[in-house]
Amino acid sequence: MATPVAGIAPVAGGPFVAGIADAAGGAAGAMVDGFGRRVEYLRISVTDKCNLRCVYCMPEEGLHWLRRDEILSYEEIAEVVRVMAGMGLRRLRLTGGEPLVRKDLARLASLLSAVEGIEDIALSTNAVLLAPVAQILREAGVSRVNISLDSLKPERADEMARRPGTLARALEGLDAALEAGFDPVKINVVLVRGVNDDEVPAFAELARTRPLHVRFIEIMPTESNLDLSADNFLSCDEALAAISAVDELRPVPGPPGNGPATYFAQPGALGTIGAITPMSHNFCDRCNRMRLTADGHLRPCLFGDLQTPLRDALRRGEDLRPLVAETLRIKPERHMLVQGSSVGSGGLVALSQTGG
Ligand code: SAM
Ligand code: SF4
Repeated sequence: MATPVAGIAPVAGGPFVAGIADAAGGAAGAMVDGFGRRVEYLRISVTDKCNLRCVYCMPEEGLHWLRRDEILSYEEIAEVVRVMAGMGLRRLRLTGGEPLVRKDLARLASLLSAVEGIEDIALSTNAVLLAPVAQILREAGVSRVNISLDSLKPERADEMARRPGTLARALEGLDAALEAGFDPVKINVVLVRGVNDDEVPAFAELARTRPLHVRFIEIMPTESNLDLSADNFLSCDEALAAISAVDELRPVPGPPGNGPATYFAQPGALGTIGAITPMSHNFCDRCNRMRLTADGHLRPCLFGDLQTPLRDALRRGEDLRPLVAETLRIKPERHMLVQGSSVGSGGLVALSQTGG
């Protein structure tokens, strides 16, 4: 019989009691939040730094970067994962900032692959630094990769990333990912009206002709993109309508993954087209994740100001399980984002701070 680590009161409005079933029993555990959602997936931000400055994500001048001693070491990240795996965690994603700017990411992947209960490790990257390390990461246990690619036009890609040479290097990374055997390889495209909306058909063609899963993402407001996210918002519905105008789009189950996308495919296509709609069609009822920031805060939601500091407790050798259980307990029912406003983003300046 399961032994709950913590008996926790229901979250306001939630019909369930958040808790950990069978936590002491290791791999058989399950984390269920106050709204009955099973949480098995952790997005790990391994760094707050990035080699790009995407217009919708990070301010051009960068951010106030974390100090080295503020950031969790690879061993510390692995320890958090080990504790959470004992409570029901099963799948991981390495993200950032740009995870590949952190030295020897494959070493972290190896440490995490060795944690009992972890079944799947994925990577989110802008792919600029991916080509030389794709095979090494695959061998270290990363099985899937999401690549951010907002334009297939070199000059525009550079402008959106605010860095020269972005597209050519990202495409090299993409080819290396396919060659190394990552499966699936997904492409994330943030829709920005008046900037890359004319490329929706070209991205659809990419999904038709190559084994790639192109996902359109609606831009979410943060403190640093309020004008862009309001004035240049484009819904996924509009993007899908543009594709449907020239080709048939059928709903399909989509590739394996942990994400909130709904998928479609064109007849005979090698890949699929996904829609991630945080603004137009809320999907928080299916949320299955928590987030670990580079400085060791466990966050129950991408947005809002709820988070639990784990780092100091970890460094003092304390039991992290009550802190994880508390974070599960405070997981909100949904995000409260409002277009054109920082209300609901919890003061977040950039998604790179929490891993996107
Ligand atoms: N640097 C890596 C990358 O770009 O894939 C990982 C971190 S990035 C923050 C993770 C994802 O968040 C990317 O797909 C990026 O396009 C997306 N993203 C960043 N800011 C966003 C925003 N304001 N709205 C929607 N998606 C955003
Ligand atoms: Fe960097 Fe990714 Fe943010 Fe672009 S979206 S600035 S690549 S963290």
